Amino acid sequence: MRITCPNCHALYEVPATELSRPRRLRCGACGHGWAYAPAAAEAPSGPDKTMRLAQETSRPPARPVPAFWLVLLAVLLALGLLVLERQAVMRLIPASGRVFRALGLG
Ligand SMILES: [Zn+2]
Repeated sequence: MRITCPNCHALYEVPATELSRPRRLRCGACGHGWAYAPAAAEAPSGPDKTMRLAQETSRPPARPVPAFWLVLLAVLLALGLLVLERQAVMRLIPASGRVFRALGLG
């Protein structure tokens, strides 16, 4: 964790375990002493920020692709083509004539 001296702005890299509770710190450069509290610490990547980031990235896209409706549309188009081109289908697959006649399309 990075700590800045409030007096001379000297930067110190301090293990986070050393700063888990409030304590007195003394700057090695200017001798200034100050009270350190974890909540008031400078934390460029504190838990608040990272949590908000995680929530933003885990949010699903605004409008997911309606795959079900696309599949249904494709099936309906294929069936429509089969009915419209039933003469060709019956020539290729003679047995399909029975199906079309059963549906009243023969
Ligand atoms: Zn200092």
